[in-house]
Amino acid sequence: MEQVLTRTKFADPSSDKKPLIISGPCSAESEEQVLATALALAKTGKVDVLRAGIWKPRTRPGSFEGIGTKGLPWLQKAKELTGLPLAVEVATAKQVEDALHFGVDILWVGARTTVNPFSVQEVADALKGVDKTVLIKNPINPDLELWIGAVERIQKAGIKELGLIHRGFSSYGNTEYRNAPMWHLAIELKRRHPELPMICDPSHICGKRDTLQAVAQEAIDLDYDGLMLESHVDPDNAWSDAKQQVTPERLAEILDSIVWRREHSDQKEFNVALEKLRAQINQIDDEIMLLLGNRMKVAEKIGLYKKENNITILQTNRWNEILERSIQKGDKLGLTKEFILKYFDAVHLESINRQNKVMNEQ
Ligand code: PEP
Ligand code: MN
Repeated sequence: MEQVLTRTKFADPSSDKKPLIISGPCSAESEEQVLATALALAKTGKVDVLRAGIWKPRTRPGSFEGIGTKGLPWLQKAKELTGLPLAVEVATAKQVEDALHFGVDILWVGARTTVNPFSVQEVADALKGVDKTVLIKNPINPDLELWIGAVERIQKAGIKELGLIHRGFSSYGNTEYRNAPMWHLAIELKRRHPELPMICDPSHICGKRDTLQAVAQEAIDLDYDGLMLESHVDPDNAWSDAKQQVTPERLAEILDSIVWRREHSDQKEFNVALEKLRAQINQIDDEIMLLLGNRMKVAEKIGLYKKENNITILQTNRWNEILERSIQKGDKLGLTKEFILKYFDAVHLESINRQNKVMNEQ
């Protein structure tokens, strides 16, 4: 039972196994709520692990902060009735101890804990010599090193089965998501640590129900190894995260509507076509880099010229002119303004650095 992740698609990518599905309420509230939710989830036949928050790290005091240790026997009963392994968030040594005592199979480190190396270390120390699965959520702020640091602390404690949960990053004033996914950060972590399964938590990314399916699909398209989705028998009256929870029946619908893709295909024709297109992409990328190199050489020449004539590097009018021209051109080519601005920002910075070097060389 302990090695939960090895039973998933992650352990055998070529199999038809679907990603690991973790579901359950944001918080355990009462024995009735836990059991009713767990039984309904088990009935769908689509859930692999039962989750529930027992200790809730709330942003501000005064709201429900979790039922505490007395909720653990309810989970234990739910496990007995459904056969589903349990996942619970832990943030202190005492919480680890209690969770282990009541047979929790997967312990996860929450976003508000991953940000704090002292807390992560405390959890890691409490886990020494324990043979359990540990999942680490991304920190609230978009800091990859902090996320990796938490992984390293837990790894050093001797935990063998480790996974990651991508739950999005807090970004001030963002309206579309509760926590912006910033997919590139999770992808970069997957690239650096391909041995760690990556699970997406659309519930905390979205913060509301209507976009859960789309975000879950996006994660599956990016070859994630699992999904964690909050569900509750009576979501509107949930004691925490009411807006983002769905009934077990709705969860089943969402899972049914996802198109499950595989990273690899054994259809030869498909692979040949894919290889051809990838070769084209590589060739285009090479050309773009060659052109960028040429562009920087021209920038250096301008730098020399400016130096001889004692002119500043930055001329705002010229820069605005480049941007406006490119946004218009890009639009005709189907490139978004957002992309053009990001691209030119990077190109411009590189250009300025090159000119700076040329102009200040003795
Ligand atoms: C949760 O899973 O209910 C939770 C508190 O998540 P996070 O740590 O991602 O905020
Ligand atoms: Mn929650």
